[in-house]
Amino acid sequence: MLLSHDMTKNDFAEIKVLLSEPKNIVIIPHKNPDGDAMGSSLGLYKYLSSLGHNALVMAPTTYPSFLHWLPNNKNAVEVFNDKDDAKISTLVNADIIFFMDFNTLSRIEEMKSFIDKSDAIKIMIDHHQQPDDFADFMYSDPAICATSQIMYHFLEGLNDTEKIDSDIATCLYTGILTDTGSFRFASTTSTTHRIVAELIDKGAVNHKIHNNIFDVNSVGRMKLMGVALNNMVILENCKSAYITFTRKELIDNGFKKGDTEGFVNLSLSVEGVNVAAIFIEDLEHDYIKVSLRSKGKFSVNQLSRDNFNGGGHINAAGGRIDDSLEKAIEIYVDSVNKHKEEILNTYE
Ligand code: 5GP
Ligand code: MN
Repeated sequence: MLLSHDMTKNDFAEIKVLLSEPKNIVIIPHKNPDGDAMGSSLGLYKYLSSLGHNALVMAPTTYPSFLHWLPNNKNAVEVFNDKDDAKISTLVNADIIFFMDFNTLSRIEEMKSFIDKSDAIKIMIDHHQQPDDFADFMYSDPAICATSQIMYHFLEGLNDTEKIDSDIATCLYTGILTDTGSFRFASTTSTTHRIVAELIDKGAVNHKIHNNIFDVNSVGRMKLMGVALNNMVILENCKSAYITFTRKELIDNGFKKGDTEGFVNLSLSVEGVNVAAIFIEDLEHDYIKVSLRSKGKFSVNQLSRDNFNGGGHINAAGGRIDDSLEKAIEIYVDSVNKHKEEILNTYE
């Protein structure tokens, strides 16, 4: 089993001292941030601001508009740009840098080289497997469903849950909601539900959050979903499936960033399917973006590490391949065939 890197009482005491005087703090979510990365980052931003720090969220890339309603999104978030000296200076001169929802610097693209140069105290809060060793403090627990839940435990460790206001509650609720597939994945525990209940008590308006996240499909996204369903291939003999998107299909259907988010789950919802993949020709780079999902014990984290230069969790992982769509499919089909016995028996 993979180790969890829980914070010790001593770590919390040290962080408490660090945060006892105003600091310049940069909070970094992973590239193409999702609900958990933005939720945990903006929740942390509000907490740090309430303590009087000069904090901001610096995202490595832009992120989908369905997350732009999050509290403080407008005033707290900047997108990094390696041509912008002011942004570089803010990053390099930060006293503290938080790394939210990722554990390897390859997930922040160009920002990585500036982190290497920075003398900031580095704090990682994350739940992915096999963390790299670059942070001074690491709260990393792959057993927890969402970084936003770890953020709650982080505030517990600092004895500051009473600082959770409706903004923080809304942000953390959103992260837990999106990373648990609306509280349905195996990582959702009774503790998760207790925390979520408390977040509602503290002002997260659950039905509005669900609406803001899920009931905002654009016509374009629905059209693309049609293409996804049409392109779905089921590999019955190994209980696996995959979906593909060519560049042309994306462009012809007016693709916008975030439109294909969650489509990989469409094939996982087919009866009998235990492993699912989506292969998307990237519009900006010459590679294929891969997303993988599984049910039960079969690890797509390993599948991604072995074949697609990526990683993630046991049941949700991603990566990429610098080759053609055909080659990506061939590698996937070979790999699920090779692991057929494990996939067929993933629940045993
Ligand atoms: P998604 O399929 O939604 O892009 O990602 C699923 C999970 O795998 C997420 O938790 C994400 O953080 C992780 N992941 C996605 N892409 C990569 C990647 O290129 N490298 C690594 N290490 N993890 C990834
Ligand atoms: Mn996450």
